[in-house]
Amino acid sequence: MQTLLVAPRAKPDHRTTALLASSVKALEMLGVWQACIPYAAPLRKLRIVDDTQRLFRAPETFFDAAEIELDAFGHNIENRHLVAALEARVSELGLSRITASALAVTSDAGGVTIKHADGEARVRLAIGADGARSLCRAAAGISTQRRAYPQTALTLNLGHTRPHGDTSTEFHTESGPFTLVPLPGQRSSLVCVLDPDRAAALSAMDDAALSAEIERRAHSHLGKMSVEPGRGIFPLAVETADAFAGERIALVGEAAHVVPPIGAQGLNLGLRDGATIAEILADARRDNLDVGAPQVLARYETQRRADVTSRTVAVDLLNRSLLTDFFPAHGARGLSLYLVDRIGPLRRAVMREGVAPAASQPRLMRGEMV
Ligand SMILES: Cc1cc2nc3c(=O)[nH]c(=O)nc-3n(C[C@H](O)[C@H](O)[C@H](O)COP(=O)(O)OP(=O)(O)OC[C@H]3O[C@@H](n4cnc5c(N)ncnc54)[C@H](O)[C@@H]3O)c2cc1C
Repeated sequence: MQTLLVAPRAKPDHRTTALLASSVKALEMLGVWQACIPYAAPLRKLRIVDDTQRLFRAPETFFDAAEIELDAFGHNIENRHLVAALEARVSELGLSRITASALAVTSDAGGVTIKHADGEARVRLAIGADGARSLCRAAAGISTQRRAYPQTALTLNLGHTRPHGDTSTEFHTESGPFTLVPLPGQRSSLVCVLDPDRAAALSAMDDAALSAEIERRAHSHLGKMSVEPGRGIFPLAVETADAFAGERIALVGEAAHVVPPIGAQGLNLGLRDGATIAEILADARRDNLDVGAPQVLARYETQRRADVTSRTVAVDLLNRSLLTDFFPAHGARGLSLYLVDRIGPLRRAVMREGVAPAASQPRLMRGEMV
Protein backbone atom coordinates (compact mmCIF):
# COMPACT_ATOMS: atom_id res chain seq x y z
CA MET A 1 0.00 0.00 0.00
CA GLN A 2 1.55 3.32 -1.05
CA THR A 3 1.05 6.42 1.06
CA LEU A 4 1.26 10.04 -0.06
CA LEU A 5 1.55 12.80 2.54
CA VAL A 6 0.13 16.15 1.46
CA ALA A 7 1.22 18.60 4.16
CA PRO A 8 2.85 22.02 4.29
CA ARG A 9 5.56 22.60 6.92
CA ALA A 10 4.11 23.22 10.40
CA LYS A 11 3.73 26.80 11.64
CA PRO A 12 5.60 27.83 14.82
CA ASP A 13 3.75 26.59 17.93
CA HIS A 14 4.76 27.35 21.53
CA ARG A 15 2.23 24.92 23.01
CA THR A 16 3.06 21.61 24.61
CA THR A 17 1.18 18.33 24.49
CA ALA A 18 0.66 15.95 27.38
CA LEU A 19 0.80 12.55 25.68
CA LEU A 20 -0.71 9.63 27.56
CA ALA A 21 1.37 6.46 27.99
CA SER A 22 -0.60 4.71 25.21
CA SER A 23 0.19 7.54 22.77
CA VAL A 24 3.86 7.40 23.75
CA LYS A 25 3.81 3.63 23.12
CA ALA A 26 2.38 4.16 19.61
CA LEU A 27 5.03 6.80 18.83
CA GLU A 28 7.70 4.40 20.11
CA MET A 29 6.41 1.66 17.79
CA LEU A 30 6.55 4.12 14.88
CA GLY A 31 10.16 5.05 15.62
CA VAL A 32 9.25 8.65 16.49
CA TRP A 33 9.49 8.71 20.27
CA GLN A 34 13.23 7.97 20.43
CA ALA A 35 13.97 11.51 19.14
CA CYS A 36 11.50 13.03 21.63
CA ILE A 37 13.01 11.56 24.80
CA PRO A 38 15.49 14.39 25.58
CA TYR A 39 12.68 16.97 25.40
CA ALA A 40 9.91 15.12 27.24
CA ALA A 41 9.07 15.30 30.94
CA PRO A 42 7.38 12.34 32.66
CA LEU A 43 4.02 12.98 34.32
CA ARG A 44 4.14 10.76 37.39
CA LYS A 45 1.60 12.49 39.61
CA LEU A 46 -1.54 14.52 39.04
CA ARG A 47 -3.01 16.89 41.62
CA ILE A 48 -6.47 18.43 41.29
CA VAL A 49 -7.19 21.41 43.53
CA ASP A 50 -10.66 22.97 43.82
CA ASP A 51 -9.75 26.66 43.78
CA THR A 52 -13.33 27.95 43.54
CA GLN A 53 -14.82 30.07 46.31
CA ARG A 54 -18.02 28.02 46.36
CA LEU A 55 -19.81 26.46 49.29
CA PHE A 56 -19.43 22.92 47.94
CA ARG A 57 -15.74 22.47 47.26
CA ALA A 58 -14.14 19.20 46.22
CA PRO A 59 -11.31 17.77 48.34
CA GLU A 60 -7.83 17.93 46.88
CA THR A 61 -7.38 14.78 44.78
CA PHE A 62 -4.04 13.15 44.09
CA PHE A 63 -3.26 10.48 41.52
CA ASP A 64 0.06 8.62 41.43
CA ALA A 65 1.04 6.49 38.40
CA ALA A 66 2.85 4.07 40.73
CA GLU A 67 -0.56 3.06 42.15
CA ILE A 68 -1.38 1.41 38.80
CA GLU A 69 2.15 0.04 38.34
CA LEU A 70 3.12 2.62 35.74
CA ASP A 71 6.30 4.66 35.68
CA ALA A 72 4.31 7.66 34.38
CA PHE A 73 0.80 8.54 33.14
CA GLY A 74 2.47 10.03 30.09
CA HIS A 75 4.94 12.69 29.01
CA ASN A 76 4.70 16.41 28.25
CA ILE A 77 6.62 17.74 25.26
CA GLU A 78 6.77 21.02 23.36
CA ASN A 79 4.91 20.67 20.05
CA ARG A 80 7.93 21.98 18.10
CA HIS A 81 10.03 19.00 19.26
CA LEU A 82 7.24 16.49 18.57
CA VAL A 83 6.67 17.92 15.08
CA ALA A 84 10.44 17.89 14.38
CA ALA A 85 10.61 14.20 15.39
CA LEU A 86 7.65 13.38 13.11
CA GLU A 87 9.21 15.31 10.21
CA ALA A 88 12.54 13.51 10.71
CA ARG A 89 10.82 10.11 10.67
CA VAL A 90 8.91 11.01 7.48
CA SER A 91 12.26 11.80 5.78
CA GLU A 92 13.93 8.67 7.18
CA LEU A 93 11.15 6.44 5.84
CA GLY A 94 11.33 8.15 2.45
CA LEU A 95 7.55 8.74 2.49
CA SER A 96 6.24 10.44 -0.66
CA ARG A 97 5.48 14.01 0.37
CA ILE A 98 3.96 17.06 -1.25
CA THR A 99 4.99 20.03 0.88
CA ALA A 100 1.97 22.13 -0.02
CA SER A 101 -1.68 22.42 0.95
CA ALA A 102 -4.39 20.50 -0.84
CA LEU A 103 -6.34 23.10 -2.81
CA ALA A 104 -9.35 20.96 -3.71
CA VAL A 105 -10.55 17.47 -2.83
CA THR A 106 -13.26 15.57 -4.71
CA SER A 107 -14.33 11.97 -4.25
CA ASP A 108 -16.33 9.54 -6.37
CA ALA A 109 -17.03 5.81 -6.30
CA GLY A 110 -13.58 4.96 -7.75
CA GLY A 111 -11.26 7.23 -5.76
CA VAL A 112 -10.34 10.69 -4.51
CA THR A 113 -8.71 13.48 -6.52
CA ILE A 114 -6.52 15.90 -4.59
CA LYS A 115 -5.45 19.09 -6.37
CA HIS A 116 -2.36 20.82 -4.98
CA ALA A 117 0.04 23.57 -6.06
CA ASP A 118 2.20 21.16 -8.13
CA GLY A 119 -0.56 19.20 -9.83
CA GLU A 120 -2.99 16.53 -8.67
CA ALA A 121 -2.99 13.07 -7.13
CA ARG A 122 -5.55 10.27 -7.42
CA VAL A 123 -5.86 7.92 -4.41
CA ARG A 124 -8.17 5.14 -3.26
CA LEU A 125 -8.65 6.65 0.19
CA ALA A 126 -7.97 10.10 1.66
CA ILE A 127 -7.38 10.39 5.40
CA GLY A 128 -8.32 13.94 6.37
CA ALA A 129 -6.04 15.00 9.24
CA ASP A 130 -6.46 18.62 8.18
CA GLY A 131 -7.77 20.16 11.37
CA ALA A 132 -10.98 21.80 12.55
CA ARG A 133 -11.63 23.60 9.23
CA SER A 134 -11.11 20.39 7.26
CA LEU A 135 -11.23 20.54 3.47
CA CYS A 136 -11.62 16.74 3.41
CA ARG A 137 -14.64 16.92 5.72
CA ALA A 138 -16.27 19.52 3.45
CA ALA A 139 -15.48 17.35 0.39
CA ALA A 140 -17.21 14.40 2.05
CA GLY A 141 -20.26 16.61 2.76
CA ILE A 142 -20.05 15.90 6.49
CA SER A 143 -21.60 18.48 8.82
CA THR A 144 -20.66 19.07 12.49
CA GLN A 145 -22.25 19.95 15.80
CA ARG A 146 -20.38 22.91 17.29
CA ARG A 147 -20.76 24.91 20.49
CA ALA A 148 -18.47 27.76 21.48
CA TYR A 149 -17.66 28.21 25.19
CA PRO A 150 -17.43 31.66 26.80
CA GLN A 151 -13.77 30.86 27.53
CA THR A 152 -10.32 31.37 26.08
CA ALA A 153 -7.13 29.46 26.88
CA LEU A 154 -3.98 31.47 27.47
CA THR A 155 -0.91 29.28 26.93
CA LEU A 156 2.76 29.84 27.67
CA ASN A 157 5.82 28.13 29.09
CA LEU A 158 7.64 29.32 32.20
CA GLY A 159 10.56 28.67 34.52
CA HIS A 160 10.19 28.38 38.31
CA THR A 161 12.48 28.27 41.32
CA ARG A 162 11.01 25.15 42.98
CA PRO A 163 11.00 21.67 41.37
CA HIS A 164 7.69 20.34 40.03
CA GLY A 165 8.48 16.80 41.21
CA ASP A 166 7.03 15.36 37.94
CA THR A 167 3.61 16.50 39.20
CA SER A 168 0.99 18.17 37.04
CA THR A 169 -1.24 20.49 39.06
CA GLU A 170 -4.72 21.45 37.91
CA PHE A 171 -6.48 24.26 39.82
CA HIS A 172 -10.21 24.31 39.13
CA THR A 173 -11.46 27.90 39.15
CA GLU A 174 -14.85 29.51 38.39
CA SER A 175 -13.60 30.48 34.91
CA GLY A 176 -12.10 27.06 34.08
CA PRO A 177 -8.95 25.05 34.83
CA PHE A 178 -5.53 26.59 35.42
CA THR A 179 -3.09 23.76 34.69
CA LEU A 180 0.68 23.59 35.12
CA VAL A 181 2.30 20.62 33.40
CA PRO A 182 5.99 19.67 33.92
CA LEU A 183 8.64 20.21 31.25
CA PRO A 184 12.24 18.99 31.63
CA GLY A 185 14.19 20.85 34.34
CA GLN A 186 12.54 23.56 36.43
CA ARG A 187 10.10 24.51 33.68
CA SER A 188 6.39 23.95 33.14
CA SER A 189 3.76 24.71 30.54
CA LEU A 190 0.61 26.58 31.48
CA VAL A 191 -2.92 26.33 30.10
CA CYS A 192 -5.00 28.99 31.83
CA VAL A 193 -8.70 29.01 30.91
CA LEU A 194 -10.38 32.38 31.45
CA ASP A 195 -13.20 34.55 30.17
CA PRO A 196 -12.02 36.14 26.88
CA ASP A 197 -11.61 39.71 28.25
CA ARG A 198 -9.53 38.55 31.19
CA ALA A 199 -7.38 36.35 28.91
CA ALA A 200 -6.74 39.34 26.61
CA ALA A 201 -5.84 41.52 29.63
CA LEU A 202 -3.37 38.94 30.98
CA SER A 203 -1.87 38.37 27.57
CA ALA A 204 -1.23 42.13 27.21
CA MET A 205 0.78 42.30 30.49
CA ASP A 206 4.54 42.68 30.40
CA ASP A 207 6.63 39.65 31.39
CA ALA A 208 7.21 40.74 35.01
CA ALA A 209 3.54 41.53 35.71
CA LEU A 210 2.32 38.32 34.03
CA SER A 211 4.87 36.18 35.89
CA ALA A 212 3.69 37.67 39.21
CA GLU A 213 0.02 37.15 38.29
CA ILE A 214 0.58 33.51 37.36
CA GLU A 215 2.55 32.90 40.54
CA ARG A 216 -0.34 34.38 42.55
CA ARG A 217 -2.85 32.10 40.77
CA ALA A 218 -0.57 29.09 41.43
CA HIS A 219 -0.38 30.02 45.12
CA SER A 220 3.44 30.14 44.69
CA HIS A 221 3.61 26.33 44.95
CA LEU A 222 6.44 26.30 42.35
CA GLY A 223 8.17 29.36 43.80
CA LYS A 224 9.04 32.43 41.78
CA MET A 225 7.97 32.21 38.14
CA SER A 226 9.31 33.77 34.96
CA VAL A 227 7.36 33.49 31.72
CA GLU A 228 9.21 32.61 28.51
CA PRO A 229 8.62 34.34 25.15
CA GLY A 230 5.62 33.10 23.15
CA ARG A 231 2.02 33.40 24.35
CA GLY A 232 -0.96 31.73 22.72
CA ILE A 233 -4.65 32.61 22.84
CA PHE A 234 -7.18 29.92 21.89
CA PRO A 235 -10.97 30.46 22.01
CA LEU A 236 -12.57 27.25 23.29
CA ALA A 237 -15.23 25.22 21.53
CA VAL A 238 -16.45 21.67 21.25
CA GLU A 239 -17.20 20.30 17.79
CA THR A 240 -17.99 16.79 16.59
CA ALA A 241 -18.45 15.61 13.01
CA ASP A 242 -21.78 13.88 12.30
CA ALA A 243 -19.83 11.08 10.59
CA PHE A 244 -16.14 10.16 10.78
CA ALA A 245 -16.07 8.91 7.17
CA GLY A 246 -17.76 9.63 3.84
CA GLU A 247 -17.20 8.40 0.29
CA ARG A 248 -13.51 7.25 0.30
CA ILE A 249 -12.63 9.85 2.94
CA ALA A 250 -11.90 9.15 6.64
CA LEU A 251 -11.44 11.92 9.21
CA VAL A 252 -8.92 11.87 12.05
CA GLY A 253 -8.01 14.38 14.78
CA GLU A 254 -9.71 17.77 14.89
CA ALA A 255 -11.25 17.20 11.46
CA ALA A 256 -13.45 14.70 13.34
CA HIS A 257 -13.62 16.17 16.86
CA VAL A 258 -12.49 19.26 18.76
CA VAL A 259 -12.49 19.16 22.57
CA PRO A 260 -11.38 21.98 24.88
CA PRO A 261 -7.85 21.62 26.32
CA ILE A 262 -9.01 20.13 29.61
CA GLY A 263 -7.58 16.83 30.82
CA ALA A 264 -5.20 16.47 27.82
CA GLN A 265 -7.62 14.65 25.54
CA GLY A 266 -7.37 16.28 22.09
CA LEU A 267 -4.27 14.93 20.41
CA ASN A 268 -4.45 11.68 22.36
CA LEU A 269 -7.89 11.08 20.80
CA GLY A 270 -6.44 12.03 17.40
CA LEU A 271 -3.58 9.55 17.76
CA ARG A 272 -6.10 6.82 18.68
CA ASP A 273 -7.97 7.69 15.44
CA GLY A 274 -4.72 7.38 13.48
CA ALA A 275 -3.70 4.08 15.06
CA THR A 276 -7.22 2.68 14.55
CA ILE A 277 -7.52 3.56 10.86
CA ALA A 278 -4.01 2.16 10.26
CA GLU A 279 -5.04 -1.13 11.88
CA ILE A 280 -8.30 -1.33 9.92
CA LEU A 281 -6.51 -0.65 6.62
CA ALA A 282 -3.84 -3.26 7.33
CA ASP A 283 -6.61 -5.81 8.03
CA ALA A 284 -8.44 -4.79 4.83
CA ARG A 285 -5.31 -5.30 2.79
CA ARG A 286 -4.72 -8.74 4.32
CA ASP A 287 -8.31 -9.63 3.38
CA ASN A 288 -7.84 -8.29 -0.16
CA LEU A 289 -10.49 -5.61 0.37
CA ASP A 290 -10.48 -2.18 -1.25
CA VAL A 291 -9.17 0.18 1.49
CA GLY A 292 -11.79 2.79 0.59
CA ALA A 293 -14.75 0.36 0.56
CA PRO A 294 -17.84 1.42 2.53
CA GLN A 295 -17.65 -1.59 4.90
CA VAL A 296 -14.03 -0.76 5.76
CA LEU A 297 -14.92 2.85 6.61
CA ALA A 298 -18.04 1.73 8.50
CA ARG A 299 -15.74 -0.26 10.80
CA TYR A 300 -13.72 2.89 11.49
CA GLU A 301 -16.88 4.81 12.40
CA THR A 302 -18.02 2.05 14.77
CA GLN A 303 -14.65 1.71 16.47
CA ARG A 304 -14.15 5.42 17.12
CA ARG A 305 -17.62 6.77 17.94
CA ALA A 306 -17.96 5.59 21.57
CA ASP A 307 -14.47 6.75 22.62
CA VAL A 308 -14.90 10.20 21.05
CA THR A 309 -18.41 10.67 22.47
CA SER A 310 -17.51 9.58 26.00
CA ARG A 311 -14.38 11.82 26.16
CA THR A 312 -16.26 14.80 24.71
CA VAL A 313 -19.13 14.40 27.17
CA ALA A 314 -16.75 14.01 30.15
CA VAL A 315 -14.72 17.13 29.28
CA ASP A 316 -17.91 19.11 28.58
CA LEU A 317 -19.52 18.08 31.88
CA LEU A 318 -16.42 18.90 33.92
CA ASN A 319 -16.05 22.27 32.24
CA ARG A 320 -19.73 23.16 32.64
CA SER A 321 -19.76 22.10 36.30
CA LEU A 322 -17.06 24.74 36.86
CA LEU A 323 -18.80 27.49 34.90
CA THR A 324 -22.33 26.98 36.13
CA ASP A 325 -23.93 28.71 39.10
CA PHE A 326 -26.23 25.69 39.41
CA PHE A 327 -25.59 24.60 42.99
CA PRO A 328 -26.19 20.78 42.64
CA ALA A 329 -23.57 20.61 39.87
CA HIS A 330 -20.90 21.80 42.33
CA GLY A 331 -22.03 19.12 44.78
CA ALA A 332 -21.93 16.42 42.11
CA ARG A 333 -18.41 17.38 41.01
CA GLY A 334 -17.25 17.58 44.64
CA LEU A 335 -18.84 14.22 45.48
CA SER A 336 -17.30 12.53 42.42
CA LEU A 337 -13.83 13.75 43.32
CA TYR A 338 -14.40 12.83 47.00
CA LEU A 339 -15.36 9.26 46.04
CA VAL A 340 -12.43 8.95 43.64
CA ASP A 341 -10.12 10.26 46.35
CA ARG A 342 -11.38 7.92 49.08
CA ILE A 343 -12.07 4.66 47.24
CA GLY A 344 -8.79 3.09 46.09
CA PRO A 345 -10.18 0.63 43.49
CA LEU A 346 -12.33 3.39 41.97
CA ARG A 347 -9.37 5.76 41.83
CA ARG A 348 -7.22 3.09 40.18
CA ALA A 349 -9.99 2.29 37.66
CA VAL A 350 -10.29 6.00 36.80
CA MET A 351 -6.51 6.22 36.34
CA ARG A 352 -6.35 3.09 34.15
CA GLU A 353 -9.24 4.27 31.99
CA GLY A 354 -7.65 7.71 31.68
CA VAL A 355 -4.31 6.33 30.49
CA ALA A 356 -5.55 3.49 28.29
CA PRO A 357 -9.29 3.29 27.55
CA ALA A 358 -10.20 -0.39 27.75
CA ALA A 359 -12.72 -0.31 24.90
CA SER A 360 -10.61 1.50 22.30
CA GLN A 361 -7.00 0.49 22.45
CA PRO A 362 -5.63 -0.07 18.94
CA ARG A 363 -2.84 -2.65 18.52
CA LEU A 364 -0.14 -0.01 18.04
CA MET A 365 -0.94 1.42 21.48
CA ARG A 366 -0.61 -2.03 23.04
CA GLY A 367 2.90 -2.33 21.60
CA GLU A 368 1.99 -4.53 18.60
CA MET A 369 2.63 -3.65 14.96
CA VAL A 370 -0.52 -3.26 12.81
C1 LIG B 1 -4.24 25.35 24.39
C2 LIG B 1 -4.30 23.92 23.95
C3 LIG B 1 -3.62 22.94 24.67
C4 LIG B 1 -3.71 21.59 24.28
N1 LIG B 1 -3.08 20.64 25.02
C5 LIG B 1 -3.21 19.33 24.68
C6 LIG B 1 -2.59 18.29 25.45
O1 LIG B 1 -1.89 18.56 26.44
N2 LIG B 1 -2.78 16.99 25.08
C7 LIG B 1 -3.54 16.66 24.00
O2 LIG B 1 -3.70 15.47 23.70
N3 LIG B 1 -4.13 17.62 23.24
C8 LIG B 1 -3.98 18.94 23.55
N4 LIG B 1 -4.58 19.91 22.78
C9 LIG B 1 -5.31 19.51 21.59
C10 LIG B 1 -4.38 19.37 20.39
O3 LIG B 1 -3.61 20.54 20.22
C11 LIG B 1 -5.20 19.08 19.15
O4 LIG B 1 -5.98 17.94 19.38
C12 LIG B 1 -4.31 18.81 17.95
O5 LIG B 1 -3.52 19.92 17.63
C13 LIG B 1 -5.16 18.47 16.75
O6 LIG B 1 -4.30 18.01 15.77
P1 LIG B 1 -4.80 17.90 14.27
O7 LIG B 1 -3.60 17.46 13.53
O8 LIG B 1 -6.04 17.12 14.20
O9 LIG B 1 -5.19 19.39 13.86
P2 LIG B 1 -4.24 20.67 13.70
O10 LIG B 1 -3.27 20.75 14.82
O11 LIG B 1 -5.16 21.82 13.44
O12 LIG B 1 -3.39 20.36 12.38
C14 LIG B 1 -4.00 20.31 11.13
C15 LIG B 1 -2.90 20.21 10.09
O13 LIG B 1 -3.50 20.09 8.82
C16 LIG B 1 -2.83 20.94 7.93
N5 LIG B 1 -3.79 21.33 6.88
C17 LIG B 1 -4.91 22.07 7.00
N6 LIG B 1 -5.50 22.23 5.82
C18 LIG B 1 -4.74 21.55 4.93
C19 LIG B 1 -4.84 21.35 3.52
N7 LIG B 1 -5.84 21.87 2.80
N8 LIG B 1 -3.89 20.61 2.91
C20 LIG B 1 -2.86 20.06 3.61
N9 LIG B 1 -2.71 20.23 4.96
C21 LIG B 1 -3.65 20.98 5.59
C22 LIG B 1 -2.36 22.13 8.74
O14 LIG B 1 -1.24 22.73 8.12
C23 LIG B 1 -1.99 21.46 10.05
O15 LIG B 1 -0.65 21.03 10.07
C24 LIG B 1 -4.49 21.25 23.15
C25 LIG B 1 -5.17 22.24 22.41
C26 LIG B 1 -5.06 23.57 22.81
C27 LIG B 1 -5.82 24.63 22.02
